[in-house]
Amino acid sequence: MLNREKNFAATSWRDHRHAQPPRPLMAEPPVVSERPPATVTMRIRGTIVACPGCGSVYRTRGIPPGSVAVCRRCGVKLFHDQRGNLQGVLALNIGAMLFFALAHLMPFLTFSIEGRAQTSTFLSGPLMLVRDGYWPLGLVVFIVVSLFPAMRMVTMFWLLLPMMSAHRPPFAASAMRFSQFLRPWCMLEIFLLGVLVAYVKLSDIAAVELHEAVYAFLAAMLLATTADSILEERALWERLGRQARVDVTRPLPAALISCTECGQIDVLAEAALHPTCSRCGSPLHRRKPDSIARTWALVAAAGVLYIPANLLPVMTVVYFGSGAPNTIMSGVKELFAAGQVPIALLVFTASIVVPILKLVGMVWLLLSVQLGVRRGRRQRTMIFFFIRGVGRWSMVDIFMISILVSLVSLGAIATVVPGMGALSFAAVVLLTMLAAESFDPRLIWDLQGDRLERHIDGRI
Ligand SMILES: [Zn+2]
Ligand SMILES: [Zn+2]
Repeated sequence: MLNREKNFAATSWRDHRHAQPPRPLMAEPPVVSERPPATVTMRIRGTIVACPGCGSVYRTRGIPPGSVAVCRRCGVKLFHDQRGNLQGVLALNIGAMLFFALAHLMPFLTFSIEGRAQTSTFLSGPLMLVRDGYWPLGLVVFIVVSLFPAMRMVTMFWLLLPMMSAHRPPFAASAMRFSQFLRPWCMLEIFLLGVLVAYVKLSDIAAVELHEAVYAFLAAMLLATTADSILEERALWERLGRQARVDVTRPLPAALISCTECGQIDVLAEAALHPTCSRCGSPLHRRKPDSIARTWALVAAAGVLYIPANLLPVMTVVYFGSGAPNTIMSGVKELFAAGQVPIALLVFTASIVVPILKLVGMVWLLLSVQLGVRRGRRQRTMIFFFIRGVGRWSMVDIFMISILVSLVSLGAIATVVPGMGALSFAAVVLLTMLAAESFDPRLIWDLQGDRLERHIDGRI
């Protein structure tokens, strides 16, 4: 802590608001802060926060309880005031772990037709996909609905339990980073939507019974989601290592760099070749490395796979000896024909609209950054965060297929087998998610000749 303050003090102060072309050292005028220290009787301490959307830096001395700090430049949320009710989060997390374990142990759904019945468990979907030769699909479903959510619950428990008694958890920073990495890949709520779609699809042709595991799963999902909404990751990081404190009455040092993992802002030493974060130890980069090239590659791969994902059948439903392969679009049409308009619209949005929106949106963002487009930067930043948030919901069709495959395998009476289209479609969803993760929205704002706005204290 002391070292950090020394670092800040030792750095030459420069007022960004009146940035001038560099002049020889000798001619440098004396540093004058905007609010002269003479009028300040006490050093006012605050913290600095960097916007993940545009890289603007703000000096903050806290916000009213329960409110949200939003970047004035790009509109992205900076942080919300949560004093961190850790006991509450821990209790919810323990509850979620128990219900999640129960959901794995009890029967999930029963499908009955013509006097024959089949019961599935929570994990029979991935297992059946593997049996049918679609092991990459089975593996992906297993990872995002079982393995990663379980790992995240255990990691949170690992972190929160020692914190209750003011102890630092072992490997705390790594555990925090791991939990943050897992977060977008935990898809409990989307799986539940997949259960709903599968239920609606099947209840037309036969009786489907929900068992205890569905309710246990629902409870686990609700508890885990509530814990996530209460938990402020920034508050947890603060407990693990304090954010650099600064004198908010003085201009900020010039060479600031922010950690994309924990939000810590460090002063970048010029000599440092491979700087690492002073709080979590992850490598620091001004921008995500090779962001544009990587994002283009992932978007291009997703664009190519989008064609087979829509042309090839995602599954074949055999019903009393006859059946035809279903593509994503024909599945939507069937739901419309069956009068299930809300579900049909939901699947249409998640499986057709969202992937197109993501692909077109990412191409637009990439081109506008490369062409240096100045107009509509705020809107583009908001669109990027929207794309990143909704992308995972396209997995709903994959989960629905996995449930149908596991539940409906009664030979000639009724059987559902997966198709190659499902594999391509899952790849499209995952690739576009990775593309959104590798894109650095601050690039939208990296344009020459921008004057720093009055209400912003610096840029990173
Ligand atoms: Zn911003
Ligand atoms: Zn960090």
